[in-house]
Amino acid sequence: MMKRISAYFRPESIGEAFALLDQPGAVLIGGGTKLNLRTMSVPMSVVDLQLARLDGIDRLDDDTLSIGATTTLQQLVDSEEVPAVVRGAARRELPSTLRAQSTLGGTIVSADAESELLTALLVHDAVVSVASPEGTEKMELGALLAHLPLAPHAIVTAVAIDTRGAASVARTARTPADKAIVAAAARVGVDGRRRLALAGVASTPVLVEETSKLDPPGDFRGSGEYRRALAGVLISRVIEGVS
Ligand SMILES: Cc1cc2nc3c(=O)[nH]c(=O)nc-3n(C[C@H](O)[C@H](O)[C@H](O)COP(=O)(O)OP(=O)(O)OC[C@H]3O[C@@H](n4cnc5c(N)ncnc54)[C@H](O)[C@@H]3O)c2cc1C
Repeated sequence: MMKRISAYFRPESIGEAFALLDQPGAVLIGGGTKLNLRTMSVPMSVVDLQLARLDGIDRLDDDTLSIGATTTLQQLVDSEEVPAVVRGAARRELPSTLRAQSTLGGTIVSADAESELLTALLVHDAVVSVASPEGTEKMELGALLAHLPLAPHAIVTAVAIDTRGAASVARTARTPADKAIVAAAARVGVDGRRRLALAGVASTPVLVEETSKLDPPGDFRGSGEYRRALAGVLISRVIEGVS
C-alpha cells in the first residue's frame, strides 16, 4: 500500500469542490489529521475544503447555532457562542496541536467510537447539513452516524445545534489527557425531555435511553463488560448533572 498525493486543490466554493471530486482518487480533507494516517492503493487527489467558506459560527436565532464544517476544534473551544459542555468536549477530544487543525466535519465523518464531542453534539439535537450536486439534505446526527460512509460526492457543510437547556458530560479515561474509554452526555431541553448519549459502547457514539441494553465491543482499553459497567455509572452521573 502507498500514500502518494498526485494533486492538491483548494476549491473556493462547494460547486468547485463537487467538480474536483469527479477525479480518480479524489479525497476531501478538512484538517487532514485522520486522512494523514490512511494508506491508499491509488494516488490521492486531495480536495482541501479550507477555502470553501464553511467555517463560520452563526447564531440562526435565540435557540439555534450553526457551526460550519471546517470550523476547527480549537475554534469551537474558543467560541463563547458554543455551549460550555460542547466546548469542554472539544477541548478533551484531541491535544492542542491536532485541535488547531482538525475540523468539525472531519470529526463527524470519522465517527470515532469514543468521541466525546460527538456525544455532546448528539444531546444538543445536532442536525447536519450534507450537500451533494443534487442539493442539500439535513440529517439528524444520530441517523447520519448510523448510515456512514457518506455518498461519494457528499460534503458536510454545517451542523446546527440547540443551545438551550441544561447539559452535563462525564467520562472515564486512563489518564485525564487520554481519550475517553466511555463518555456520557445528557441534556434536558426546554421541552423538558432528557437526551442521553454514550461513546465507547458501540461502533459510533449513540443516543440511548437509561434502560437501553448495551453490548459494547471490548479492546485493550476495556472489555465489553467493563465498558457496560462504566456506562451505567457515567449515565447516573450525567443524569444527576442535569437534575
Ligand atoms: C495522533 C492522533 C491522535 C488522534 N486521536 C484521536 C482521538 O483521541 N479521538 C478522535 O476522535 N480522533 C482522534 N484522531 C483522529 C482525528 O484527529 C479526528 O478524527 C479528527 O477530528 C478528524 O478531523 P479532520 O478535519 O482532521 O479530518 P480529515 O482527516 O480531514 O478527514 C477525515 C475524514 O472525513 C472526511 N471529511 C473531512 N471533512 C469533510 C466534510 N466537510 N464533508 C465530508 N467529508 C469530510 C475525509 O474525506 C476523511 O475521510 C487522532 C489523530 C491523530 C493523528
